[in-house]
Amino acid sequence: MLKAAFPGSFDPPTLGHLNIIQRAAGIFDELLVVVAENRQKKYLFSAEERAAMIRRLAGDRANVSVTICDSLIVDFLQKQGIKVLVRGVRGMEDFSYEFELSMMNKALDSSIETIFMTTDPEYFILRSSAIKELASFQGNISGMVPPLVAEALKEKYREGGNSPEKSTK
Ligand code: ADP
Repeated sequence: MLKAAFPGSFDPPTLGHLNIIQRAAGIFDELLVVVAENRQKKYLFSAEERAAMIRRLAGDRANVSVTICDSLIVDFLQKQGIKVLVRGVRGMEDFSYEFELSMMNKALDSSIETIFMTTDPEYFILRSSAIKELASFQGNISGMVPPLVAEALKEKYREGGNSPEKSTK
């Protein structure tokens, strides 16, 4: 039984994240999507809102589950008995950041293996921060996020959500 975790902010989840979830769920027996709740970061959506969106979007796959983590990911993985961490990579910039992160995680727990999945080309430009900025100016984000996320973004900015430059991702 090979379990993997896919951690991230998912603020909000994009078609790029969902693509990685679908592909990773096709490789591993179980995939746990881990929504990060980092008190140092400012999010547009609460952890519960982000987790609920992913559950609605990926819940049709029996081997995908979603949880929230507000601790160090390596400690969390140890408790869950998960040794594989999946991260998505859009290009060299992502790779150098992800590589350093994987080295840090390896230093904290040498048994953790990070698996990098390259983005599918059609999702290459998708980035939560850019999508929030677009949405805040009522730009067209269809084709970047699923309709329920587009609707949630519209709602947030209608409510006068955090300005995208203040939120982290
Ligand atoms: P972070 O975890 O750095 O806060 P995100 O929550 O946005 O960033 O992303 C979670 C993971 O999903 C990261 O590994 C990130 O590289 C990956 N990712 C984000 N967008 C895409 C995309 N369009 N294609 C592939 N991977 C992506």
